[in-house]
Formats: sequence, structure tokens, C-alpha cells
Amino acid sequence: MMDKKEEKLKIIEGVEQPSSINTRILRGIKKSTGRLLTAEEYFQGIKSGNRTLLAKAITLIESNRPEHQEIASQIIERCLPLSGKSKRIGVTGVPGVGKSTFIESLGSSLVDQGMKVAVLAVDPSSNRSKGSILGDKTRMPVLSAHPNAFVRPSPSSGTLGGVARKSRETMIACEAAGYEVIFIETVGVGQSETTVHSMVDMFLLLMLPGAGDELQGIKRGIMELADMIILNKVDESSEIIINRAKTDYTNALHLLPPSDSGWIPLVCQCSSVTGKGIELVWEKISEYFSFITGNGYFDKNREQQASFWFLETLNDEIKKMLYSSPEMKKIIQEYHKKVSVNKISPFEAAQTVLKFFREKIYHE
Ligand code: GDP
Repeated sequence: MMDKKEEKLKIIEGVEQPSSINTRILRGIKKSTGRLLTAEEYFQGIKSGNRTLLAKAITLIESNRPEHQEIASQIIERCLPLSGKSKRIGVTGVPGVGKSTFIESLGSSLVDQGMKVAVLAVDPSSNRSKGSILGDKTRMPVLSAHPNAFVRPSPSSGTLGGVARKSRETMIACEAAGYEVIFIETVGVGQSETTVHSMVDMFLLLMLPGAGDELQGIKRGIMELADMIILNKVDESSEIIINRAKTDYTNALHLLPPSDSGWIPLVCQCSSVTGKGIELVWEKISEYFSFITGNGYFDKNREQQASFWFLETLNDEIKKMLYSSPEMKKIIQEYHKKVSVNKISPFEAAQTVLKFFREKIYHE
């Protein structure tokens, strides 16, 4: 039998999610117009707030086909000058803690106030856990249907770096389309938390009052990333348990090293189902943004993130160049064998392989 704590983390039975790249749409782009739209046409559509064209542009961003990537990068280039103005907010927590419900609740309240809200998800696992994930449309029915909202599931599979690049570019397109708040939800448990943290201005960690840290699978490292811990599902807990959890987490946060932003992380509470506390959570989020804008951290952090992703992409591409060349593949295989039978040291083998690579690139 499930004990009470586990019950709280119960996960909705899910269904396997289809690929987020809708090949029908890609075909449709051509069929309905007789030709592919130009990057400029996509950009104009995005700029004017056309959600269909935004979705189609994102499909191109997510596609791995070279011709799609080329037009996607032309679209992004045009979007860049209009980007950067949103509040980028990461939302994490174990599956079942209520991330989607929380975003649905807070997002709905924001769009009702006239704001434009986008929701993206980052899920690098190629094999999606069927247990926790329903199609995002059905997970956030109210928000998805609102004209001021744009909800997009994670680009399917791929490496964490690949998914992150696609999500960052999607974020840029959303900003150019005028979305003022962008939630990025981590899906599944794994390394995606640090990746999402490196793309956002603020990182929210959802927890349950009354369930121990171990049960919630939250590592200390993740807690260190949090700007705010939000105790969700407080409608299911007694005041005593909520207050104890608040004190425990506040104390735990105070023991952590101070964050670069100078902000002291705090603990809030809400019920995403009843909506109680959601307004106060937004007040605190707004306070955080005023704080980091005021002390210059907002810009500094964005600059650092941009340079981090520049170097990450460079590293990724260099690796791709090295490993995807058939000629290099053969050489690597050959030296791999030599290393495994102790004919050459791993270090020397790597140096030799790189020498071939350098010669190939620089025609030395
Ligand atoms: P996620 O996997 O973290 O995105 O979690 P979901 O948003 O899918 O929520 C998991 C379950 O918890 C669902 O059955 C929700 O209805 C429920 N849930 C989410 N937030 C609350 C809350 O504040 N109170 C209660 N009682 N249930 C909630």
C-alpha cells in the first residue's frame, strides 16, 4: 500500500508523447503556399504575434535537417534584436509535485491581467517517462487555449546540449513575438535542472510540505540553484506541517553559500489547484526581478549565460566535426584498438588523433 507521503507525489498515468516536430506542418508550409516561406516572412509573422507562424518557425528550429536549420538561423538572426526583454523563469521539482498545474495557475492569472506568457519544457531524455507526461496541451488546458499564451512541449530527444540550444532559440523567437514571461519547465529528473538554470533569470523549486527531501529526490545542489522554494499543494497539509516545512527549508537555504545575485532565497507557499497564495508568489517573483535589475545582476547574468552558451556550442560543434568525419572516424577506431591492447598510451593516442585532425583542418 502507498504511504500517505508517496500518495501526494502520485503521478498521472501518461501516454507516450509524439514527436514535437510536426512533419505534417513542415509539409503543409510548402503545400499551402506552393513554396517555403522566407525567413523574412516568418519574422514578420512572429513580430506581429502570429502564433501559427511562431509555432512553424519553432518546428524549423527543432528540425535537424540542414535546410531547415539554415532558414531557422536566419529567422533567429532577425529575432535577436527584439529579444531579451522577457522574464525567463525556470520551474523545477520532482514529477508529480505540480509544476504544470502551478504554471497553469500562475500563467492563467498573468494572461488574465493582459500579459503574454509562453511555456516551454526541457526534456532531454529520448525515452520519455510514460508515467508522468501527458501531452502539454492536456496538461495546461486553460493556458493553452488563451490567446495571450503559447505552450510548447520540449523538442523531442537529442542531447541535453541540443535540446538546450533549441530551447534557447525558441525563447528568442517567443521574445520577438512579445511574450513577457517565459516559463521553462524541467521535465523528468536528471541533469536538465542545471541546463535550465543556465538559461533563465530566476529558478523556482517546487516542493511538498511534509514530504522529506529524500523522498522528493532533491539534491542539495539543486537547492543551491533555487531563488525561491515554493511549497505546493498546501491545501492538502495542515498549518503545523506547512509551518514546519517553511522553517526547515528557510534554515536549509540560509546554510547554503550566498548566491551571486545577492538575493536571499525565500520560501513561499501556494495551492496550484485552489489558487491560494499564487498572487503572493508572483509578488515575490516581481520583487526578485526588481532586485536583480537594480543591482545589475540581471544584465550580468544574461551576458554570462550568452558567453557560456557560445563556448558550449563551440565545444559541441568541434566534437561533431571531429567525430562525424568518416576519415577521422577510421583513425579514431584504429587508435581505439591500439589503446585497448596496450600498444599505445591513451594520452599519446589522443595526441596523435588530434594531430591528424589539425592537419585535416589546417592542411598542415
Ligand atoms: P508535475 O509532474 O510536476 O508537472 O505535476 P502535475 O502538475 O502534473 O501535478 C501532479 C498531480 O498533482 C495532479 O493530479 C495535480 O492535479 C495535482 N496537484 C498539483 N498541484 C496541486 C495542488 O496545489 N493541490 C492539490 N491538491 N493537488 C495538486
